[in-house]
Amino acid sequence: MSASTRIPPIAQPFVSERAKKTLDLVEEFVEKDCIPGDAVFSAELGEGEKRWQTTPIIMEQLKEKAKKLGLWNMFLSKTHFKQGAGFSNLEYGLMAELLGKSKIASEATNNAAPDTGNMEVLAKYGNDAQKQQWLVPLLEGKIRSAFLMTEPDVASSDATNIELDIRREGNEYVLNGSKWWSSGAGDPRCQIYLVMGKTDPNNSDTYKQQSVVLVPAGTRGITVNRMLHVYGYDDAPHGHGHITFENVRVPLSAMVLGEGRGFEIIQGRLGPGRIHHAMRTIGAAEKALEWMINRINDDKKQTFGKPLASHGVILEWVAKSRIEVDSARLIVLNAAIKIDQGDAKSALKEIAQAKVLVPQTALTIIDRAIQSYGAAGVCQDTPLAYLWAGIRTLRIADGPDEVHLQQLGRRENRSRKDAIAAKLKWQREESDRLLSAAGFKIKSHL
Ligand SMILES: Cc1cc2nc3c(=O)[nH]c(=O)nc-3n(C[C@H](O)[C@H](O)[C@H](O)COP(=O)(O)OP(=O)(O)OC[C@H]3O[C@@H](n4cnc5c(N)ncnc54)[C@H](O)[C@@H]3O)c2cc1C
Repeated sequence: MSASTRIPPIAQPFVSERAKKTLDLVEEFVEKDCIPGDAVFSAELGEGEKRWQTTPIIMEQLKEKAKKLGLWNMFLSKTHFKQGAGFSNLEYGLMAELLGKSKIASEATNNAAPDTGNMEVLAKYGNDAQKQQWLVPLLEGKIRSAFLMTEPDVASSDATNIELDIRREGNEYVLNGSKWWSSGAGDPRCQIYLVMGKTDPNNSDTYKQQSVVLVPAGTRGITVNRMLHVYGYDDAPHGHGHITFENVRVPLSAMVLGEGRGFEIIQGRLGPGRIHHAMRTIGAAEKALEWMINRINDDKKQTFGKPLASHGVILEWVAKSRIEVDSARLIVLNAAIKIDQGDAKSALKEIAQAKVLVPQTALTIIDRAIQSYGAAGVCQDTPLAYLWAGIRTLRIADGPDEVHLQQLGRRENRSRKDAIAAKLKWQREESDRLLSAAGFKIKSHL
């Protein structure tokens, strides 16, 4: 069954014929070129320092092929941008799920974070000169980028804490401070940092203190101290940088949108980006389930005289995983439809639901798959350990679960509490009236 025939019925009316054809092409590209290419990518990266100076040849070969197939920049939705491949968020959601099954497929099709979010920022908020200098080469896949918000010295899940100082001096901005978890900053092709800092730390409106400026990587005063590991994985050549800024000077034209507009930018940036991660994560969960099914039917590795699939508990894992991944997919596709019908702001609730639910669900499924492999599941002989580590970070990256749950809970409570109280009061009174009219002398316990 090809990908286009597996589209959930609830989403089918929103998917064009062109998107269905592309979806099948994406599936073939991922399954036949990218997944087998994952190992080649790792082998070409090699060992040691070389990992940070290399762009594996296979990546450029896959990019060429993807461009020829028309599988390029699908993430930029036709509803909100003119520079993309002309698909909706929902259509891209279905494609991103397939991309999530390979380590390299997103980059090979120019749909990889953090470039995707950065391209959205430049397309949405950049001026013509900024677009020409940075958006054009990013869209062509010629350079890469990083988004620098999180800082080592403050709790960055509350972005009002961000401290990096952006001071205006004559016709320049001068930057001082530290950033970490700057994903993508290790890549030798990373040429531009989008840096969030404070231009007006004393503004009484704490949401107007921040700004985002464009800083070319390698500008004097920037030191990349080290690359942080994720559960021991270095994620080279992409990497997660710990970077210091010491009197880094950029021209006034480096400001995006205007001083004090930083919060507006990060909110706009993270909307669709959050569901891109969720969509890819559904693919990772599907991949884990495929690996689990392969292991439990391996006749060479039977326990107590039968393959694992003949042990009841294991089939229950398969069934539960199927239910969980299918329901998580619907949550993501629903968020995508909601964005398509309005914008990311009008879909905040649905995006938060997907952002929280999908990684937790996928982690449960990957964990079962790991368990089904025994010790092999935790080593490098299956993709499962790496998948688990990568997806575990999504419960923290782009804001930890607790922050999204707090906002979701607050919004749900505030928007519904008065209407619910009024409805329940009315139902109690109406029930009492009906009981009394029917001759009962009892009070309702509604
Ligand atoms: C793999 C990876 C890639 C990343 N890439 C980038 C990147 O490219 N650019 C970038 O700027 N950042 C990036 N980050 C950083 C990420 O966005 C931050 O780690 C995240 O926002 C949390 O900030 P913090 O680490 O400072 O945690 P803190 O703010 O110190 O929070 C610590 C913990 O406190 C708890 N907490 C926080 N608020 C609440 C609350 N309201 N209620 C209850 N508990 C709460 C949560 O459990 C949270 O995990 C990345 C992180 C990872 C792991």
